[in-house]
Amino acid sequence: MSKIKMTTPIVEMDGDEMTRILWKMIKDDLLYPFIDLKTEYYDLGLEHRNATNDQVTVDSANATKKYGVAVKCATITPNAARMSEYDLKEMWKSPNGTIRAILDGTVFRTPIVVKGIEPNVRTWKKPITIARHAYGDVYKNVEIKVPGPGKVELVYTGEDGTEIKELVHNYAGAGVAQGMHNIDKSIESFARSCFNYALDIKQDLWFATKDTISKKYDHTFKDIFQEIYDKEYDARFKEAGIEYFYTLIDDAVARVMKSEGGFIWACKNYDGDVMSDMISSAFGSLAMMTSVLVSPDGYYEYEAAHGTVQRHYYKHLAGEETSTNSVATIFAWTGALRKRGELDGNKELCDFADKLEKATIDTIESGCMTKDLALITTIAKPVVLNSEGFIKAIAKKL
Ligand code: NAP
Ligand code: MG
Repeated sequence: MSKIKMTTPIVEMDGDEMTRILWKMIKDDLLYPFIDLKTEYYDLGLEHRNATNDQVTVDSANATKKYGVAVKCATITPNAARMSEYDLKEMWKSPNGTIRAILDGTVFRTPIVVKGIEPNVRTWKKPITIARHAYGDVYKNVEIKVPGPGKVELVYTGEDGTEIKELVHNYAGAGVAQGMHNIDKSIESFARSCFNYALDIKQDLWFATKDTISKKYDHTFKDIFQEIYDKEYDARFKEAGIEYFYTLIDDAVARVMKSEGGFIWACKNYDGDVMSDMISSAFGSLAMMTSVLVSPDGYYEYEAAHGTVQRHYYKHLAGEETSTNSVATIFAWTGALRKRGELDGNKELCDFADKLEKATIDTIESGCMTKDLALITTIAKPVVLNSEGFIKAIAKKL
């Protein structure tokens, strides 16, 4: 059998712990036998990030700007414990944060739906994709613990000295106050990423805020989305047969619960944080969530939504058997391969991505799965496979 050729490389970002182990198995058993795989390799494993003073993360993000498509393995975000575990020179920042800052993207998270892992919400038949704005609001807030009687004001001072002042509250006693911000440029990027991705996957886009209460702050989000939509996307959405739909967040939540799924739900930063946890747990498992960072300039970085599965890695190091779910990492690869194929007009590569996804889903639906899924499946007497056995079973189907 001749292998599928690639013309342009994918940026490959290797990672840490158990997902690094899965990464190699996926390449060896599911990719190399079928594809003449072309990647530009960046080792984002913590040791190499430390050795390069994290330059490798910056380089990998810049390479993504050059080639347009990246696939990333889960990586450790260092904390105090990791400082000593890996003898780090510095507490390096989260690679995802660094990459996102360079690409200025929005993260889209989508559950992988298979028969036998039923969503908790009966009406959901198709996946719901959450798009979370990744800048500002409560995540960049300032807070005051008001000690006693007095007033809190919000003051803007323009460069030319103009002043806008609003009274937040006249306190009769102790309390709290909070100031937060966002910027038009970031909201515009968020809007464009969402519109582009909706066109890309041909699904409706929903957006919701609390603009009836937040008449300036949230209303600005609503207005920016609408202006960009009317000017740049209306015709293209109509042509693609999809819809942009704005509603109040309360209404959105009610509609989501009664929907069939199959759309993108754009959320402000906090809403996206909370709702993505709700969607992923209601769809079944964090190990079945894919994630893609889409930049407003059309660069794509695919990954699994979960972390490095540290607990399983320590078992693996101790020589114990693991049953770690590789589905989201496999789908990160298929997402990147399909996008590469689309951009290069390489139909064979797109077809391969479809076949690998189907083989993965068919394997689970035939009753062969990892332990995390076996615990929640409605399939009677599932066969529980170890990490490697599951990937080998997919390879056999493929
Ligand atoms: P995690 O790696 O997502 O794992 C948390 C738990 O969820 C696991 O212990 C496991 O539960 C279950 N789980 C997650 N993925 C699974 C899979 N593929 N198969 C089976 N079970 C799975 O989160 P964490 O342990 O909090 O974080 C570990 C490291 O990952 C941290 O250093 C963190 O910084 C990093 N992280 C990276 C990313 C990223 O790169 N995108 C995202 C999040 C976290 P059981 O142990 O009960 O089996
Ligand atoms: Mg959260």
